[in-house]
Amino acid sequence: VGQKLRELLDLALPTECIGCGGHGGGVLCGDCLPLLVKSRPLSWPDDFTLGREELGLEAGVAGWRAAGLYHGLLKELVLRLKSSCRHVATPLSIAMVAAAGNDPAFLVPDMVCFVPSSREKVVSRGYNPAELLARAVSERLGRPLMQCLAKTRATLDQDGLPGYQRLSNVSGAFGATRILEPRSSVLLVDDVLTTGATARACSGALLAAGAHEVRVLVAARAAMRGCPAGRG
Ligand SMILES: [Zn+2]
Repeated sequence: VGQKLRELLDLALPTECIGCGGHGGGVLCGDCLPLLVKSRPLSWPDDFTLGREELGLEAGVAGWRAAGLYHGLLKELVLRLKSSCRHVATPLSIAMVAAAGNDPAFLVPDMVCFVPSSREKVVSRGYNPAELLARAVSERLGRPLMQCLAKTRATLDQDGLPGYQRLSNVSGAFGATRILEPRSSVLLVDDVLTTGATARACSGALLAAGAHEVRVLVAARAAMRGCPAGRG
């Protein structure tokens, strides 16, 4: 019964704006949504301080973009998405597509896919936050959403691990569930990019399945302590 009740609560649209608490009827009011979209998008290779070496993305990620740094309103929305509120995927996807700018490599991928979550997490939460974001992004871009990846072994929660352990934690932990069309370009969606270890592991699986290029679009870029992204 508890599970059913929670599912119903999850479906209810919040009545207060998450940004300002105003009663606008929706997740974000008309004043707060533009603030989210205007927050400075982050990208690589454009932002050299957030580069390939720092993130360890040499295994084939052609570039990544984030709607902004993981703080303030953006952080609050991501936390809500992860905890309970699936409606937050809509404003986040608006900010993410805005962060894609006018780059066709991000705007017209052959397919949109997402970082898979463990089965246990999907069952306990009722959904995979990355999948919700990917679905919203794919609808906004008009590009097909494909479930291409699955976890091939259990991993520890990356959030609780120091940077140096994150790569080994997820390395080889993802596999493709289908053969991709030759030369396909894939837009891989996740909620937060920190060390890039998960994106790198997923990208490796996609490239092994035939993808030609993988780009990563996330809601927020989080900084490990002491990394240059923290300056923002
Ligand atoms: Zn507001």
